[in-house]
Amino acid sequence: MTGIPFNRPAWMGNEMAYLREAMDSGNISGDGQFTRRVESQISQMIGGVWTRLTNSCTSALEIAALLCDLQPDDEVIMPAFTFVSTANAACLRGARPVFVDIRPDTLNLDERLVEAAVTPRTRAIIPIHYAGVVCEMAPLIDIARRHGLMLIEDAAQAFLCRYRGRWAGTIGDIGCFSFHETKTFHAGEGGAIVLRRPDLIERTEILREKGTNRSRFLAGQVDKYTWVDVGSSYLPSDLIAAVLLGQIEAAETILSIRRRLFERYFAAFEPLEAKGWIRRPVVPAYCDINFHFFYLLVESAEQRTAMLQALYAQKIHATFHYVPLHKSPVAERLGLERELPVTESAAGRIIRLPLYNSLSEAEQKGVISAVFAFFNEAAPT
Ligand SMILES: *Cc1c(COP(=O)(O)O)cnc(C)c1O
Repeated sequence: MTGIPFNRPAWMGNEMAYLREAMDSGNISGDGQFTRRVESQISQMIGGVWTRLTNSCTSALEIAALLCDLQPDDEVIMPAFTFVSTANAACLRGARPVFVDIRPDTLNLDERLVEAAVTPRTRAIIPIHYAGVVCEMAPLIDIARRHGLMLIEDAAQAFLCRYRGRWAGTIGDIGCFSFHETKTFHAGEGGAIVLRRPDLIERTEILREKGTNRSRFLAGQVDKYTWVDVGSSYLPSDLIAAVLLGQIEAAETILSIRRRLFERYFAAFEPLEAKGWIRRPVVPAYCDINFHFFYLLVESAEQRTAMLQALYAQKIHATFHYVPLHKSPVAERLGLERELPVTESAAGRIIRLPLYNSLSEAEQKGVISAVFAFFNEAAPT
């Protein structure tokens, strides 16, 4: 492909060597040596919290929904400005997503609107940490505690992000990470579930292993390996774990490269924001991000379409997301529509620029110039 793609996975450490080692080991199913190594690496990096690899963040969210014992017509509070997996996890259990609007600054779930959405049927809140900026967790913890709700962090975009010094994914009851190709740390597909609550660990092991007590059997704690709960297959092959171990071990390098790219975009677009033409990401001082992606908010959906086309004409593949879930065909079918003005406004105006580890400085300057040219301005040198 010529031009500048939106994303390109990059191998930054021992991914290839570990993959070969896994292939040669004779054991490539799940929960092999690389799975255990990467789990302990992940755990160590985020304060020692209990960690299991999953196929994806989608799988981790599905386990979380099972752990909540959601019943038909139970309600789960979440933003509509998110990926479909957050809502699917609830819907697969017959529960109803209740969509709450987002904050105009961080585009995260607006914690000030959450309590008004709580009903006697509410069972859980799932904030997503958009672009790695952790939601305002303190008020959410308070609401969850007072109403007896599970707090599940959709931290798909937020591995190694922090909120007031605490690691994303380890602040609520359950944390879910993604290692999909497009995320800061990637292994093609992949994810993890982390638990701060020890009382959820045993059931998580079972749900993740097709509803069996295989992990207790392997540990010699029971003498039969049998069906003990309704679960599914949520663990990845050791091949994925091997690739992921290489990525995670290279975290410092990956973060420093992406920090430079993010900060270069951020500084370069300052003059356009000063003119009031665009808005750059807002990162509160007490949030540390992992530079997952960089976005701009432009003035209107029409302007966004025009800018995407202008960039595409120069072979620069920018993109946007999300089609808000409350406006989707499923929402229509299940009657989940509501008025979410901030979500609708942001979803129409957001543009995501290419940001990946191998994006060169010259390529990035090309992207910056193209955005300035769209506004008939010369890019700063
Ligand atoms: C990427 C993403 C997911 C899904 O992650 P997978 O690992 O692809 O299942 C879920 N939620 C959010 C907010 C995401 O960004």
